[in-house]
This record gives sequence, C-alpha cells and structure tokens, in this order.
Amino acid sequence: MKKYSIGIDLGGTKILTALVNKQNGNVDYFVKKKIKKEKGPESVTGKMLDSINEVLSETDTDLNEISSIGVAAAGQIDRGNGIIIGAPNLECFDLNLRRIIQSEFDVPFFLSNDVEAAAIGEMKFGAAKGVDDFVCVFVGTGVGSCIVKNGKVIRGATGTAGEIGHIIVDLNGRPCACGANGCLEAYASRSAIEKRIEGALKKGRHSVILDYLQEGKNITSGMIRKSIEREDELVTHCVDEASAYLSGGLASIINFINPKLIILGGGLIEAVDYFYQKTIKDAKLKSLPVPALKIEFKKAALGDFSGVTGAAYLDEI
Ligand SMILES: [Zn+2]
Repeated sequence: MKKYSIGIDLGGTKILTALVNKQNGNVDYFVKKKIKKEKGPESVTGKMLDSINEVLSETDTDLNEISSIGVAAAGQIDRGNGIIIGAPNLECFDLNLRRIIQSEFDVPFFLSNDVEAAAIGEMKFGAAKGVDDFVCVFVGTGVGSCIVKNGKVIRGATGTAGEIGHIIVDLNGRPCACGANGCLEAYASRSAIEKRIEGALKKGRHSVILDYLQEGKNITSGMIRKSIEREDELVTHCVDEASAYLSGGLASIINFINPKLIILGGGLIEAVDYFYQKTIKDAKLKSLPVPALKIEFKKAALGDFSGVTGAAYLDEI
C-alpha cells in the first residue's frame, strides 16, 4: 500500500488540502486557502492545483507515494464521473474535477460530499471508530447527514440519501434554499439561528450579542456561546427554538433508522455545549421508547480535519 493520500475539503469559503498518512490517519501537513465565489470556478480549481503542488513540495513527497487524491465538496456531486453538478456557494456548476486534477496529477481521483467524507473520517479515526452502524449529522449553513450501515455509506438510488435538512417539519413553514417550505434546516441550522437573532435585533430587541457584533460581520458560534453564558434572553430563545426542531429531526432518525450511534458535528455543536446537551436529551425524549433505549450520542472528534481525513480514504470505501 502506498504511504499517503491527499485529502481535500472544498468548503464554501476555503480549500483545506492535507497530506494524510494512510497507516494512522494523521494529517502530516496541510495548506488552507481562502476562496471567493465571485472569482469563479477557475480560481477554485487553480487554488486546488496549487495546494496539491505545495503539499507535495513542502513535504518532499513524490507522486509515486500517493495512492489517491480525494475531494469532499459541499454540493451536489456525480461521484462516478468526479463532477461537481452544482455547488451554489462556490458558483461551480458541471465542473469536471476529475479531468482537471488528473490532467496534472496521474493518480486515482475520488469525489464525495462533505458530510459523507466527515462520516468516513469519524468512522476510521474519530468518534465512530469501531462502530459500523451510525448516522452523522452536521449543523452549519445547512443540516446535512450521512447514514452508515455495516460500515458502508448508504447513498440511495440517486446518491442523495441522508438529506435530513430537507425533511419537512412545517407544511406551511419558512422557505428553504431548496425551494420547498418548512424544511428542518430552515429552523435548525446555524444560519437559521443567525437569521432569527438578526431579525430580532433589527426590530430593536436588546441582546448582549451586540457587545461582540461588528458592523458588516456575521454572528459566530463563539458569540452565541458567550451570549448564552451571560444568560441572554434573545440568543437563548433562538438557540432553544433551533434545538427543539433539531431534536425532533434526530428523533425521526432514531425512529426511522434505529442506529446505535448518532454523531453530531459542526461549529455550533463544537462551540455551544448547551445546544448539544439540550438537543440530545430532548431527542431521546421525543423518540419511541424502544429505539431510544439503545441510542448513543457523541460529538464529532476530528474537528476541521474530519473532511480531509475521510477524503483521503475514499479509495477504500
Ligand atoms: Zn429544503
């Protein structure tokens, strides 16, 4: 077996490229580059190629030592052909990443979505190590999930299984980016919480989060944590509301799939323990009694490296 793989996490605002040691899953070296969607797909792929070259040259690694290059991308993908079908956050549509990467690096190339790669990373070296039956749920701009059964990712007929963010929790509810109304992610995502807080502030509600907020800057998970620690009424209310919806979504997963373990990840889960604890407690209470007996919850353990680690092992899944 070759010693290394290159794992790349292509997010909405950055590309994280890592040299991953295949024996132990360690990230031996990484490069992070910011991307701007206004600059278009050529800028994204250019920075990706530069990052791979940088990782190889800085670590003195020969391409012969690389077993694969794997990319985890936020968006709709065609795994078989290595194409990003649509990543609106990046303005990338019908982007043939395999052709672009392999025109410069002659090694096997694999593409997956971001939550799937994170789940693979967690299964290999993180919170799901030794567990072959679990669901990963990541809370961020949206709410994404990945179902693993017998150590295999369940992808569904069109490769889109796991879209827990788009289960409908209110028939006449808030509009969702997908075009439907009342999807879970319109209530339980970090973006949903931010919108609720911002909306209330615009109406003149007071909150201690104003002490941290800078003009033109977004609300961060850290600001939410500090506001909750100061028992801020508005922020606590918005987080409680999101938690109520998320726990309902998790109860639906528990009842429908009956997993042994649910792993929760994303910046808000990592930063705001109050949100995590409240959500898992309520999810158990809302589930049917029998599947609730066996369910276990854990926080994702690999942090920022879960995507690159999983992407480095796409050749083994
Ligand atoms: Zn939706």
